Formats: sequence, structure tokens, C-alpha cells
Amino acid sequence: MSSKQSFSFEFFPTKTDAGHEKLMNVARQLATYKPEFFSCTYGAGGSTRDRTLGTVLQLERETSVPAAPHLSCVGDSQAQLRSLLAQYKAAGIKRIVALRGDLPSGMGMAVGELRHASDLVEFIRQETGDHFHLEVAAYPEMHPQARNFEHDLANFALKANAGANSAITQYFFNADSYFYFVERVQKLGVNIPIVPGIMPITNYSKLARFSDACGAELPRWIRKQLEAYGDDVKSIQGFGEQVITELCETLLAGGAPGLHFYTLNQAEPSLAIWNNLKLAQ
Ligand code: FAD
Repeated sequence: MSSKQSFSFEFFPTKTDAGHEKLMNVARQLATYKPEFFSCTYGAGGSTRDRTLGTVLQLERETSVPAAPHLSCVGDSQAQLRSLLAQYKAAGIKRIVALRGDLPSGMGMAVGELRHASDLVEFIRQETGDHFHLEVAAYPEMHPQARNFEHDLANFALKANAGANSAITQYFFNADSYFYFVERVQKLGVNIPIVPGIMPITNYSKLARFSDACGAELPRWIRKQLEAYGDDVKSIQGFGEQVITELCETLLAGGAPGLHFYTLNQAEPSLAIWNNLKLAQ
């Protein structure tokens, strides 16, 4: 593994004690692979405020892997964000994934005082200087609400210029979209590392639903093959592992500065890819 490359795993905070215990077991297993960091998602509007904080602190304590909370600004006031930043700083957290977020349905049109992720990056820099390494989100296939691709690229540049240190992409299955995105933002003068977000394929219907919602294209050849497997979970997983391993190989060979795995709180699918890639342990 090149010392410049960053490999990381993402979790979501769970609602039950049993789910939480399972998550910690998965994290302990993944920690032996010595990732750069773990990250833990945040429910926009603060719905997981305490659980994200608690999970991140426990991850660091029990695995010694640096843990990065996601933090979104939509629906949170500046006072709430300030208080959370102070708690993270006091706990020795050094990295934050700074996002706008999407309010869960049912929370109406409430928006926070900060409207865009670039506002949040600016706010964190104002409040805490250079204490945190700030990650932001990138969308090689365009954010689903973006006015157009050019506007989205310009908005990504705003986040970098506001002080983001690096970025993690939405997942995608088409390596060309990643390379094109990186080339285009570099032309705008943005040179922060942009790490591909990797979604292992384990379940067709969930993946199809998720991809529709977040604007990730599930190519026809993958969709058709997964459809053909029906309920044959073993074949879906075998095919998915092969497709994603090859995607990762192409990305790393083309200069991607690492990989960020969306684990969905499971160890095996990400580790199968990690082992196929022969990444260091
Ligand atoms: P922004 O960068 O603010 O962009 C959102 C949209 O607004 C884009 O269309 C952009 O083009 C546009 N825009 C940006 N700035 C401006 C401007 N100044 N003027 C006009 N338009 C503008 N969601 C969660 O709720 N919790 C999580 O933990 C979480 N983790 C994520 C992790 C990763 C790696 C990724 C890729 C996404 C994650 N998301 C999470 C989803 C994310 O919150 C949504 O995709 C959300 O819709 C956009 O967040 P953003 O930070 O990309 O927003």
C-alpha cells in the first residue's frame, strides 16, 4: 500500500444494543487491517447526534483507529454545531466528514442557518481553525439535485476553496465518471485528494433502490445480471465481488488516492475486495 493512499471504512450508528455490539465486532475485525480511519454517518437534522458521537468515541477507544464523525448542517443550528464541534475537539477527534445532509422525510422544509456544505466547511474553519482534517462529498455522476454538471463542479470547488482537505465520492460503478470528474475539478484548480467511495454489491433490490435515490447509475449490464440471479444470494455476491474488485483495480491503477468502503456495518463484503486487491494488513 502506498503511504500516500488512504483506505477507510464507513459505518452507520445503530438503534439497538445488539446492532451496536455487532458494529463494534465488525470494527474490531476491520481494525486489524489498519485503515487510515473509520467514519460514522450522521442523521441530518441531528437525528443521530448522540449516537454518532457515542459510536465515534467508542470506535477510537476500542480499536485505536482514528474515527471521523460525519456532520451535516441542514436542520442543525450554528449553536448545535458549535457545541458538537467542541465535544469532538475535547475528545481528541481530528477528522470530520462535512456535509449538507438530506433531511429525513417528515422533518418538513426546516433548514439550518448553513445551507450548503461549503458554508459548513467555512464555519468549522472559523470556529476551530486547522484542528480538523475536513472531508467533503464528491459526485462523479453529479449530485441528484444539481442544476447541471458544470454548476455541481463549481460547487465542489467552493468546498475545497473553503478549506476542505480531501473528498470522498458517492459510490459509482463506472470508473470513467470518476476520472473525468477528477480531471474537470483539477482544471478548476482543485487538487485535494478525491477518494472513491466503494459500495460492495450484496443485495440487488436494496442497491437498486439506494442508487435511484442517491443518483448513482447502476449500469444495465450489472442490473441485468443481478436480476437474472433472482434470489440466488451466493451468485449475486460472487458476481458483485468480482465487479467491484475490478472497479477498484482500475481506480487504483489510474491513480485514485485510496478507497473508502461503505461497509453497511458488515465486514465480509469489504474484506473480500480488500483481500482480492492484496492491500496491506
Ligand atoms: P453540498 O455540497 O452542499 O451540495 C448539495 C447540492 O447543492 C448540490 O447539488 C450542489 O451542486 C448544490 N450546491 C452546493 N453549494 C451551492 C451553492 N452555493 N449554491 C447553489 N447550489 C449549491 N447524508 C447524511 O445525511 N448523513 C451522512 O452521514 C452522509 N454521509 C455521506 C458521506 C459521503 C461520502 C457522501 C458522498 C454523501 C453522504 N451523505 C450523507 C449524503 C449527502 O448529505 C447528500 O448527498 C446531500 O444531498 C448533499 O450533501 P453535500 O455535502 O454533498 O452538499
